[in-house]
Amino acid sequence: MSGKRKDYITWDEYFMAVARLAGLRSKDPNSQVGSCIVSTDNKILSMGYNGFPLGCSDDEYPWDREGEPLDTKYVYVTHSELNAILNYRGGNLEGAKIYVSLFPCNECAKAIIQSGIKEIIYGEDKYPDTPAVIASKRMLDSAGVVYRKYDSSGRKIELEI
Ligand SMILES: [Zn+2]
Repeated sequence: MSGKRKDYITWDEYFMAVARLAGLRSKDPNSQVGSCIVSTDNKILSMGYNGFPLGCSDDEYPWDREGEPLDTKYVYVTHSELNAILNYRGGNLEGAKIYVSLFPCNECAKAIIQSGIKEIIYGEDKYPDTPAVIASKRMLDSAGVVYRKYDSSGRKIELEI
Protein backbone atom coordinates (compact mmCIF):
# COMPACT_ATOMS: atom_id res chain seq x y z
CA MET A 1 0.00 0.00 0.00
CA SER A 2 1.40 3.37 -0.94
CA GLY A 3 0.71 6.59 0.92
CA LYS A 4 -1.41 9.34 -0.52
CA ARG A 5 0.02 12.26 -2.44
CA LYS A 6 1.19 15.09 -0.22
CA ASP A 7 1.32 17.95 -2.73
CA TYR A 8 -2.34 18.06 -3.67
CA ILE A 9 -3.86 21.53 -3.77
CA THR A 10 -5.92 22.90 -0.88
CA TRP A 11 -9.61 23.80 -1.17
CA ASP A 12 -8.68 27.48 -1.09
CA GLU A 13 -6.13 27.03 -3.88
CA TYR A 14 -8.57 24.99 -5.91
CA PHE A 15 -11.46 27.45 -5.73
CA MET A 16 -9.34 30.55 -6.21
CA ALA A 17 -7.69 28.90 -9.21
CA VAL A 18 -11.14 28.13 -10.65
CA ALA A 19 -12.18 31.76 -10.07
CA ARG A 20 -9.04 33.00 -11.83
CA LEU A 21 -9.54 30.54 -14.67
CA ALA A 22 -13.08 31.86 -15.16
CA GLY A 23 -11.61 35.38 -15.32
CA LEU A 24 -9.52 34.35 -18.30
CA ARG A 25 -12.76 34.14 -20.28
CA SER A 26 -13.31 37.88 -19.98
CA LYS A 27 -12.97 39.98 -23.14
CA ASP A 28 -12.19 43.12 -21.11
CA PRO A 29 -8.76 44.35 -22.23
CA ASN A 30 -8.03 45.99 -18.86
CA SER A 31 -9.62 43.92 -16.14
CA GLN A 32 -10.30 40.20 -15.93
CA VAL A 33 -12.12 39.18 -12.79
CA GLY A 34 -13.42 35.72 -11.99
CA SER A 35 -15.72 34.32 -9.32
CA CYS A 36 -16.49 30.86 -8.04
CA ILE A 37 -19.38 30.16 -5.67
CA VAL A 38 -18.94 27.19 -3.37
CA SER A 39 -21.32 25.39 -1.02
CA THR A 40 -20.57 24.85 2.65
CA ASP A 41 -19.52 21.29 1.81
CA ASN A 42 -17.04 22.43 -0.85
CA LYS A 43 -19.00 21.82 -4.01
CA ILE A 44 -18.74 24.33 -6.83
CA LEU A 45 -22.16 25.84 -7.50
CA SER A 46 -21.45 28.51 -10.07
CA MET A 47 -18.80 30.60 -11.80
CA GLY A 48 -18.71 33.95 -13.52
CA TYR A 49 -16.50 36.56 -15.12
CA ASN A 50 -16.95 40.17 -16.13
CA GLY A 51 -18.75 40.58 -19.42
CA PHE A 52 -21.74 42.00 -21.24
CA PRO A 53 -25.20 40.48 -20.84
CA LEU A 54 -26.40 37.77 -23.19
CA GLY A 55 -27.13 39.12 -26.64
CA CYS A 56 -24.92 42.19 -26.17
CA SER A 57 -22.03 41.52 -28.50
CA ASP A 58 -18.46 41.86 -27.28
CA ASP A 59 -17.69 43.27 -30.70
CA GLU A 60 -20.44 45.90 -30.72
CA TYR A 61 -20.40 47.20 -27.13
CA PRO A 62 -17.53 49.38 -25.91
CA TRP A 63 -14.73 48.21 -23.62
CA ASP A 64 -13.51 51.80 -23.17
CA ARG A 65 -13.02 53.25 -19.72
CA GLU A 66 -13.17 56.89 -20.76
CA GLY A 67 -15.45 59.02 -22.91
CA GLU A 68 -19.15 59.74 -22.92
CA PRO A 69 -20.87 57.50 -20.38
CA LEU A 70 -22.76 55.57 -23.05
CA ASP A 71 -19.48 54.92 -24.85
CA THR A 72 -17.84 53.28 -21.83
CA LYS A 73 -18.09 49.73 -20.55
CA TYR A 74 -19.35 50.75 -17.14
CA VAL A 75 -23.01 51.11 -18.02
CA TYR A 76 -23.11 47.72 -19.77
CA VAL A 77 -20.76 45.29 -18.09
CA THR A 78 -21.89 42.69 -15.57
CA HIS A 79 -19.31 41.94 -12.91
CA SER A 80 -18.11 38.41 -12.25
CA GLU A 81 -19.78 38.10 -8.85
CA LEU A 82 -23.21 39.09 -10.18
CA ASN A 83 -22.78 36.81 -13.18
CA ALA A 84 -21.89 33.91 -10.91
CA ILE A 85 -24.98 34.58 -8.78
CA LEU A 86 -27.25 34.90 -11.81
CA ASN A 87 -25.72 31.86 -13.50
CA TYR A 88 -26.77 29.69 -10.58
CA ARG A 89 -30.07 27.99 -11.37
CA GLY A 90 -30.07 25.30 -8.74
CA GLY A 91 -31.95 26.94 -5.89
CA ASN A 92 -30.68 29.30 -3.26
CA LEU A 93 -27.19 30.26 -2.21
CA GLU A 94 -27.89 30.58 1.50
CA GLY A 95 -24.68 30.06 3.46
CA ALA A 96 -22.46 29.71 0.39
CA LYS A 97 -18.97 31.18 -0.08
CA ILE A 98 -17.72 33.17 -3.04
CA TYR A 99 -14.13 33.21 -4.22
CA VAL A 100 -13.37 36.29 -6.29
CA SER A 101 -10.10 37.58 -7.66
CA LEU A 102 -10.87 41.24 -6.83
CA PHE A 103 -12.72 42.73 -3.84
CA PRO A 104 -16.42 43.13 -4.75
CA CYS A 105 -17.81 46.57 -5.56
CA ASN A 106 -20.88 47.99 -3.83
CA GLU A 107 -23.27 46.72 -6.49
CA CYS A 108 -21.94 43.18 -6.23
CA ALA A 109 -21.95 43.44 -2.43
CA LYS A 110 -25.70 44.11 -2.60
CA ALA A 111 -26.23 41.03 -4.76
CA ILE A 112 -23.98 38.91 -2.52
CA ILE A 113 -25.88 39.97 0.59
CA GLN A 114 -29.30 39.44 -0.96
CA SER A 115 -28.36 36.04 -2.37
CA GLY A 116 -27.53 34.69 1.08
CA ILE A 117 -23.81 34.23 0.49
CA LYS A 118 -22.09 34.50 3.85
CA GLU A 119 -18.37 34.54 3.14
CA ILE A 120 -16.12 36.21 0.58
CA ILE A 121 -12.58 35.10 -0.12
CA TYR A 122 -10.95 37.73 -2.28
CA GLY A 123 -7.65 37.92 -4.12
CA GLU A 124 -6.71 41.56 -4.52
CA ASP A 125 -8.13 44.67 -2.90
CA LYS A 126 -6.85 47.14 -5.48
CA TYR A 127 -9.29 50.01 -4.86
CA PRO A 128 -9.83 50.19 -1.08
CA ASP A 129 -10.17 53.98 -1.06
CA THR A 130 -12.92 54.22 -3.66
CA PRO A 131 -16.54 54.90 -2.66
CA ALA A 132 -17.54 51.59 -4.30
CA VAL A 133 -15.31 49.52 -2.02
CA ILE A 134 -15.85 51.60 1.12
CA ALA A 135 -19.62 51.30 0.66
CA SER A 136 -19.24 47.61 -0.11
CA LYS A 137 -17.42 46.90 3.15
CA ARG A 138 -19.89 48.99 5.12
CA MET A 139 -22.83 46.98 3.78
CA LEU A 140 -21.08 43.63 4.16
CA ASP A 141 -20.23 44.47 7.77
CA SER A 142 -23.83 45.48 8.51
CA ALA A 143 -25.16 42.31 6.90
CA GLY A 144 -22.71 40.03 8.69
CA VAL A 145 -21.03 38.78 5.52
CA VAL A 146 -17.46 37.96 6.42
CA TYR A 147 -14.59 38.56 4.04
CA ARG A 148 -10.99 37.46 4.16
CA LYS A 149 -8.06 37.94 1.88
CA TYR A 150 -6.96 34.84 0.07
CA ASP A 151 -3.70 33.71 1.62
CA SER A 152 -1.60 32.87 -1.42
CA SER A 153 0.72 29.94 -1.11
CA GLY A 154 2.72 31.21 -4.08
CA ARG A 155 2.31 27.83 -5.70
CA LYS A 156 2.45 27.93 -9.49
CA ILE A 157 0.02 25.72 -11.34
CA GLU A 158 0.70 25.07 -14.97
CA LEU A 159 -1.86 23.38 -17.17
CA GLU A 160 -1.38 22.27 -20.72
CA ILE A 161 -4.74 22.68 -22.40
ZN1 LIG B 1 -18.99 44.48 -8.85
